[in-house]
Amino acid sequence: MTSSSDKQVGASPTVIEPTIFELSSAGRAGYSLPACDVPDAPVERLLPQHSRRAERPALPELSELQVVRHFTRLSRLNYSIDGGFYPLGSCTMKYNPKLHEKVASDTRWSSLHPHQPDATVQGVLAMLFRLQGYLCKIGGMDAFTLQPAAGAHGEHTGLMLIRAFHEKKGERRTEVLAPDSAHGTNPASAVAAGYKVVQVRSNAQGRVDVEDLRRLVGPQTAALMLTNPNTLGLFESEILSIADIVHQTGGQLYYDGANLNAIMGVSRPGDMGFDVVHFNLHKTMTTPHGGGGPGTGPVGVKSHLRPFLPIPVIERSTGAAGAEQYALTTERPDSIGRVRSFFGNVGLLLRAYAYIRSMGPDGLTQASHDAVLSANYLKALLQDSFDAPYAGHCMHEFVLSGRRQRAQGVKTLDIAKRLLDYGYHPPTIYFPLVVEECMMIEPTETEDRATLEAFAAALVAIAREAAEQPEVVRAAPQNTPVSRIDEALAARKPDVRWKG
Ligand SMILES: *Cc1c(COP(=O)(O)O)cnc(C)c1O
Repeated sequence: MTSSSDKQVGASPTVIEPTIFELSSAGRAGYSLPACDVPDAPVERLLPQHSRRAERPALPELSELQVVRHFTRLSRLNYSIDGGFYPLGSCTMKYNPKLHEKVASDTRWSSLHPHQPDATVQGVLAMLFRLQGYLCKIGGMDAFTLQPAAGAHGEHTGLMLIRAFHEKKGERRTEVLAPDSAHGTNPASAVAAGYKVVQVRSNAQGRVDVEDLRRLVGPQTAALMLTNPNTLGLFESEILSIADIVHQTGGQLYYDGANLNAIMGVSRPGDMGFDVVHFNLHKTMTTPHGGGGPGTGPVGVKSHLRPFLPIPVIERSTGAAGAEQYALTTERPDSIGRVRSFFGNVGLLLRAYAYIRSMGPDGLTQASHDAVLSANYLKALLQDSFDAPYAGHCMHEFVLSGRRQRAQGVKTLDIAKRLLDYGYHPPTIYFPLVVEECMMIEPTETEDRATLEAFAAALVAIAREAAEQPEVVRAAPQNTPVSRIDEALAARKPDVRWKG
């Protein structure tokens, strides 16, 4: 751990990696091809005019070693779970065991082609079918589709299922309810699925305000979307009454499973009354988040929604000799159709399968217990240095407020940037929106006690800096390749063109 006193504020190290085009020099190559063993033919004979370029492409020319060093250096500028603690709340940045990579790189999986006939891919179909079964058990659901490519895609798929269910009954419901603490993808998915979003208030305890819900719910309500524990890291203790209220008006209850890591093997959304769930396997089931993708957001349903599941569906039957046989079918007249090419991100589903099989039921339960323990320990280490808006125990994550530091002239954004100087990825900030100067911290079960204590010491040191020398925190980060950037501009108008 580096303390603030060893840092020279203002002395930013400039690590500039040229673009691969700037490293290029004509004639360098990283390949050598064997002599051609077919007759030479001019490209004009091989490709029609409209498929040929007018000019040569501007490709960089480098040796293999230059390419390796360039990308290795770039990769070191990136922060990763393999490189350090990553307490990004709601995102469940837990360690991805290397065992999964060993399993997934076996050519018996990796050489398969999605157009192979079912009879030649029985192993992968069996794996996917079993994974659906495990997810049903974990979630307390009746059926699963593995196709959605992320949590948000799962939400959209789930809402399409709900729409199909209502429409089959001849009902045109127009609204989706979501609490004011909801993740932004919830209202976004609802709008994308053609619904109007109505916000339900949180009460002073950070839970759904049941009276507000009662007032808002009605025959126009298609669904209520909830995550439990919610984005404040608090269990919705009124969940059974909430489910009743929604069901009594014919609405459906949607479970955003991003926070499953708190309750795996302990309680099940299906038992809480949820009709549809998605699980983010790249969160809870340790498949890589991988720079924004690919992810996996399987969707589970209770039996009344099964007919609407996306196609293709995996069917199991018993063959002549009593052996299990698997086949893909598209014959589902009420299906919402395809939501994804082929069968979803199978390589990631396989990693999730490896995780579930290697953990076993007891291991999954233990993981959730440990995740909750880690979060409560870290909360206890930090709650004197920052405001903790919700008293008592948390689930697998918790929120703090930087109100006190704000009054000292330091914004939560500054605290997050200062953490970079201490070598940590910052927590989620300014979310959920219901907490002023919010910091949302999720340590996960894969971090040891020493890591939690070192991270807490860094945040405590920053809180002291905020009180004693706020200008140091405001000037952070100083130990990163670039200091403050205009993040809105970088996100909205990224300039990544090569100006050669
Ligand atoms: C991560 C997250 C989502 C969205 O999931 P993606 O897999 O990133 O699309 C939705 N809700 C909550 C609470 C989340 O944390």
